[in-house]
Amino acid sequence: MSPTEQILKKHKLRITPIRKEVINLFTDSGHALSSADIEAQMPDADRITLYRTLKSFEEKGIIHKAIDGTATQKYALCEAQCDEHIHHDEHVHFHCENCELTFCMEGVFVPKVQIPAGFNVTQTDMVVKGVCNKCLAK
Ligand SMILES: [Zn+2]
Ligand SMILES: [Zn+2]
Ligand SMILES: [Zn+2]
Repeated sequence: MSPTEQILKKHKLRITPIRKEVINLFTDSGHALSSADIEAQMPDADRITLYRTLKSFEEKGIIHKAIDGTATQKYALCEAQCDEHIHHDEHVHFHCENCELTFCMEGVFVPKVQIPAGFNVTQTDMVVKGVCNKCLAK
């Protein structure tokens, strides 16, 4: 069984060619992907099926929303400990202003912020902007 198939099995999703292909895209890319990015890579796939695939992957804890302050919703592969309904991706996202790609900074945690009493925090997102290592190396 391939690593991709193991991910699907772990999250109790049936192994289908389209699911495998989407996971492979995330594994190979190294940065967050929007649904338009995925559609561009899979021109033959049905858009509705792709949309449902992303939605179920997010629910199952395979991918998470990579909030990067842009108008385009992007997703990235989860850290191994994510599970259905429980995401543990409390890392910073980095948005490169040069190539406009967004990266997960795994291991770089979003700092705890003090919120006044009377407000209940459910999620904290942090995006750091700048120039990524690939652009800097050019
Ligand atoms: Zn997650
Ligand atoms: Zn860059
Ligand atoms: Zn991330």
